Formats: sequence, C-alpha cells, structure tokens
Amino acid sequence: MTEVAEQFTENRAGEIARITHWIDGKPVEGTSGRSGPVFNPATGAQSAAVDFASPEEVDAAVQAAKRAFEGWRAMSLSRRTELFFRIRELVHDHSDDLARLLTLEHGKVLSDAKGEVARGLEVIEFCCGMPELLKGGYSEQASTGIDVYSIRQPLGVVAGITPFNFPAMVPMWMWAPAIACGNTFVLKPSEKDPSASMLTAELLKEAGLPDGVFNIVHGDKVAVDSVLEHPEIAAVSFVGSTPIARYVYETGTRHGKRVQALGGAKNHMIVLPDADIDMAADAAVSAGYGSAGERCMAVSMLVAVGHAADDLVDAIKERLPKVKVGDGMNPDSEMGPLVTREHRDKVASYIEKGREEGATIVTDGRESAPDNGGFFLGVTLLDDVKPEMDVYKDEIFGPVLGVTRVETYDEAVELVNGNPYGNGVALFTRDGGVARQFQFDVKAGMVGVNVPIPVPVAYYSFGGWKSSLFGDLHIYGPEGIQFYTRGKVITSRWPDPATSKVDLGFPQTR
Ligand code: NAD
Repeated sequence: MTEVAEQFTENRAGEIARITHWIDGKPVEGTSGRSGPVFNPATGAQSAAVDFASPEEVDAAVQAAKRAFEGWRAMSLSRRTELFFRIRELVHDHSDDLARLLTLEHGKVLSDAKGEVARGLEVIEFCCGMPELLKGGYSEQASTGIDVYSIRQPLGVVAGITPFNFPAMVPMWMWAPAIACGNTFVLKPSEKDPSASMLTAELLKEAGLPDGVFNIVHGDKVAVDSVLEHPEIAAVSFVGSTPIARYVYETGTRHGKRVQALGGAKNHMIVLPDADIDMAADAAVSAGYGSAGERCMAVSMLVAVGHAADDLVDAIKERLPKVKVGDGMNPDSEMGPLVTREHRDKVASYIEKGREEGATIVTDGRESAPDNGGFFLGVTLLDDVKPEMDVYKDEIFGPVLGVTRVETYDEAVELVNGNPYGNGVALFTRDGGVARQFQFDVKAGMVGVNVPIPVPVAYYSFGGWKSSLFGDLHIYGPEGIQFYTRGKVITSRWPDPATSKVDLGFPQTR
C-alpha cells in the first residue's frame, strides 16, 4: 500500500479521524464549525468526523475550479487522454484500497466493494476514448464555397452530488466524463462515507491532474443549496432519493443550470411460469440482498405469475438460511450491515408494517441479525404483498424482498407500468417472443431479460424513467458526454473577393 492509501486506511479502529475538504489540489480544513459523524457500520463505532462546508467554502471550491477551467479546457486532447490513462492505472492499482474504504464506511462486503470500483473504472476507461467521443461533424460545400461544422465544448464549472450507496462508483460516473470533456468539477459526496472521494482526489493529483480541476466539499443541505444556487456552476449531476432529486432538479434549473437528477427506485422482477425457477431464485437472492439491498438497481419486488409463485417462494426460502451476514471485511461474509443505525431501524420497521398490513413473513431478518453493536439486519422475505401496502409502495432500501402474486403477464406489466418509479426491471422467462414483447411494453429505463440487475455497460448510458430521473439525459456513456458539453455550429467561408457582394436577404443555401 502506498503512502496515499495508508493515510486513509490506517488507524480506522482507533481515534476519530478528521475528514477535510479538498480544494485547489490540497486538503482544506473546514471552518464552519459544523461536521458530521462517519461510522464503521460493522461495529457501530464512529471512525471519523467530516467537515461540513459553509456557502463560503463552497464558493472557494468553485473559484478554484473557475481558475483552473481555461487552462484545462485548452489542454490538447492527446495530453488529456494521456493523463486519463494515468488516472486509470492509478485507480486500478488502488482498487483494493478504495474497496477497503467502502467496506469500512458503507459496510458492503469487500468483494462487492471491489465490484463497485471495477464498474466505476469502466467509466474512466470509456473516457480514455475522449478524442473519439468529442468528435464533431463536418459538411463540406453546404453552400457554394461554404463549409459547416459542429463542435462540442465544455460547460465550465460543473458539480456532482452523490448518495451513500456507491461512494466511489457514482462519483466516477460524474467526474470522469465531466473532466474528460474539459470541465472542472466540484463534488459533494455523501456525508455518510466520504473517504473514498478523498482517496480519489489524492490519486487524481498523483496522476498529474492540475490543481483546481477536481475539488471536494463535504456537507449537508447547506452545501447542496450553495451548489444549486451558485451562479458560476453551469451544471449539476445528482444521484440520490426521489424527493431530493426532485428538489435538486427544480432548484438547480430555477437557478439556470443544466441538471440531471437520478432518483430512487422500486425494481420489479417478473417471473413467468415457464422460467427456470432455480435460476430465478438465485437471481432474486443475489439482486435482492446483495449490498444489503442498498442498491438503486436492487430487486425489491418479485412479481410471480401463475403457478411460478409457490415454487419460487419455496426456492428462495430454502436459500436464505445460507446467506452469511457479517462484517464486510471478513471474506466469509456475503452481506454486510446497513449504513447507519437509523436506516437499519427504519428498514426493520417495514417488516412489522408488512405483517400489520397483511403480508406473510416467510423469513424474518430481525431474528438472524448479528448482535454486536453493528447496524446489521438479516434477510427478510415477505409473501402476499399487495400493491396498496406501504411495503409495496415505498422504497425500503434494505434486505427486504417482497413477493406479489398475479395470474397473467398483462397484470404483471400493468403493475410495473403503474409504479411511480421506472429505474430497472427484469423478466425471467424461456420465451423469447414474450421477452421481446416485454421490452416493447415496459415503462422503465433499464430492462433485464433473465438478468436481474441490468446496469448498462459504460458505453451505454444509465438512467430510469418516471420518478427515477428528473432531466433529459441519462448519466455516463454517450448521454453523459452530451450532458457535459454544449454544441456549437460554425458556418465558414474563406474570402473570395470575386463572389462577395451586399445581400440583405435571409441566407439561403442553394
Ligand atoms: P439522499 O437523497 O438522502 O442523499 C443524496 C445526496 O443528497 C447526499 O449527498 C446528501 O447529502 C444530499 N441530501 C440529503 N438530504 C438533502 C436535503 N434535504 N437537501 C439537499 N441535499 C440533501 O440519498 P442517499 O440516502 O444517500 O442514497 C440512497 C438513495 O439514492 C436511494 O433512494 C437510491 O435509490 C438512490 N440512488 C439512485 C441511483 C440511481 O441511479 N437512480 C443510484 C444510487 C442511489
């Protein structure tokens, strides 16, 4: 492990570390007097206190980004690309260090944390292709002697506000394309697990990224509002819960910014009677309980069609006692704790609520949670969930999987399409014709066919429909490049005195 990584990973069990902002290429201690606690969810112990930014501190980060912008956007594509290859190598070499930080502050098991870094790395790799991605168009001889061409240019200072559940990958969805496109960046990470961002900042500096191109301000609503209202921030990317996504979109656009705000989810997995039930049950357990259900693409509702239901519930029930819940640093653990005590308690309260509403508790996670002071909850399976129940309607964001039973494919699709969220959805079947009809019918942004978590690869874009996305463009991939650039069209004629004359008419092309 290098010095950089050690700084963030040693002494985690001992004293309470201080996590500062990162402005203009260096750590900057906060002066607001406000901070928030960071916990190790596997032990329940506080490991750090993170400084919360004031509006003045957000402004300092924006000014650093503004100073860096002209130089950064003027750097040639070949040099920028070379630098991105170095960033890619450093992030790759420090994947394990980043993953350890994720496990220590988020709680997810180490193998899952490594998967998170790997998926983020794919976005960085995609951005190494920036010369190709930023190519414009050219039309020779659009009119006699006139050529027309289009280019895409960066917006300026842009910001990202990210959730707790992917503390390394989701920031990478934003800063990598934003910076590759020539913007400078201010990140407001989740205050619950901010250290991975700080290590990322160190790595970017070590790679040679000029100071001020990437900045971090930590904090809560005060910092977010300062970002949304700042006149010199051109665009904001947000990923988080739906109420905050809506707020960020409305506030940011009201202040003249381009905004993409990705919200929450209630992802359904439909299992048709012809599906391979063992395969569907394996998928449901992986996608429902992986990362303790704290994934925006987690499957939270199974829609069992016809006679698939009994077999599916039995198959899942049989698998659940084998799910090993424990400290994510222990290689034997398959599911870690939830991120905070409050969140664990809120998720647990839904189990009781489900019972009161008339759902059947097949497996109760409250009975199997390790009891060591960590924020653990075991896996829960609720059967006979009905659409009018809160356990159906709310995004629980924990290891609670519900099953609702319907008789037909049409009823299943109606449920999905009637849901206010439209992030991910999956269909399990052996019938290609039905699967094709499903992709045509379903109202969601990301669709899996016998794939429970259809997160698009880095060269496609990620985003939901309905209340899962506010804004026009999805994140990363080609739409990410579009989001972080704006178009310019140049119409050009090189002087030919022989054809020059005064003409007050509207320009014609023939
Ligand atoms: P959150 O909405 O509570 O927080 C997200 C960010 O907003 C954080 O940086 C937080 O500091 C800030 N924030 C929180 N409350 C705020 C307020 N009142 N005003 C201004 N800013 C505020 O989300 P979370 O709990 O960190 O993350 C989980 C949520 O994120 C889930 O709903 C999940 O579905 C969603 N999510 C969505 C996607 C997606 O791609 N659609 C991906 C990951 C997570």
